[in-house]
Amino acid sequence: LNRRLAGMGSTIFAEMSALAVATGSINLGQGFPDTDGPREIAEAAANAVLTGRGNQYPPGPGIPELRAAVTEHQQHWYGLSYDPDTEVLITAGATEAIAAALLALLEPGDEVIAMEPFYDSYAACIAMAGATRVPLTLRAPGFRPDLDELRALITPRTRLLLINTPHNPTGTVLTPEELRGIAELACEHDLLVITDEVYEHLVFAGAHHPLAALPGMRERTVSISSAGKTFSFTGWKVGWVTGAPELVAAVRTAKQYLTFVSAGPFQYAVADALRLPDSYFDTLRADHLRKRDLLAEGLAAAGFEVFRPEGTYFITTDITPLGETDGLEFCRKLPERCGVVAIPNVVFYDNTEAGRSQVRWAFCKRDDVLAEAVTRLRRL
Ligand code: PMP
Ligand code: GLN
Repeated sequence: LNRRLAGMGSTIFAEMSALAVATGSINLGQGFPDTDGPREIAEAAANAVLTGRGNQYPPGPGIPELRAAVTEHQQHWYGLSYDPDTEVLITAGATEAIAAALLALLEPGDEVIAMEPFYDSYAACIAMAGATRVPLTLRAPGFRPDLDELRALITPRTRLLLINTPHNPTGTVLTPEELRGIAELACEHDLLVITDEVYEHLVFAGAHHPLAALPGMRERTVSISSAGKTFSFTGWKVGWVTGAPELVAAVRTAKQYLTFVSAGPFQYAVADALRLPDSYFDTLRADHLRKRDLLAEGLAAAGFEVFRPEGTYFITTDITPLGETDGLEFCRKLPERCGVVAIPNVVFYDNTEAGRSQVRWAFCKRDDVLAEAVTRLRRL
């Protein structure tokens, strides 16, 4: 393993999901639903395979039907218009979009300011690009970004801001005012922005506001989303990028040499999914709001300090009230103590002191599974 990837041997999700399987525990660690997305969308994927649509290499930028559906989605939900030919790129999940964008836009030695705790692939991809990450720390209990702190982190080497809203793992949803502050700094310092909005349809307080919709942002922003979270098919790995033609062309160049194309038949199915009626998205949100409250109340009853998330399908807690201080140690022992798996947020921080006692729980699970997990946790 080279120096850039030193210490990044295995992701926390792989470690904790393996532990869940080995111990037969309830897995509230890695974020994946235990119920698949809509039956008609699964059928659309099966039909595409059986009728020979997408079984051979689809076009590199993604099939035209899906690129059109992405532009319709951005227009319908946010009033953003994109050209499906030059301003949309289909990727192998948001993960590839993040990697391709960072590899395409960064020079070695550039600095990237990323909100921490950060989704683990950010750190690895910034490192693979030979750039340096500079954390903007979100601190408990509010987990709000401090814009004065952000301003102070900007140096002549800063090239890019990496934003994530709704934010994994804290559940913070950036307000219009916070987004305006970020946008103003990006414009003032002529920075590029990558915004990871994969949880755009999982917002429980307020609304999701895409950063690209703010003044001055369209031309400097690469927006990323994914079918995994919105349609509960995380295994399909269909994501997308929207942005100005030069930025999308750059990301496409990198993507060509990472995977060349993404799985064909799933692209047809995701095109159908993006055109589901609004009621689908409303139900997704309502179901997850109920699950959030179920788990939040259970975790509070079990003694955790609960930071109720505004979005995503994760709850961050603090284990200090249970007499615990080390989240990593706590999560490694939790399966044998009570048959539940969770994720220690500390691995998402450079500033490890800020996250040492935080533990994250996924609530994209059946209500009875959440209830059983809570019963087990109350015995701690
Ligand atoms: N970004 C964030 C913030 C995520 O939580 C995830 C899913 N774990 C991804 C990106 C990756 O999405 P995908 O599965 O589409 O690659
Ligand atoms: N995004 C999911 C999470 O944060 C899973 C990611 C993964 O397994 N790489 O849990």
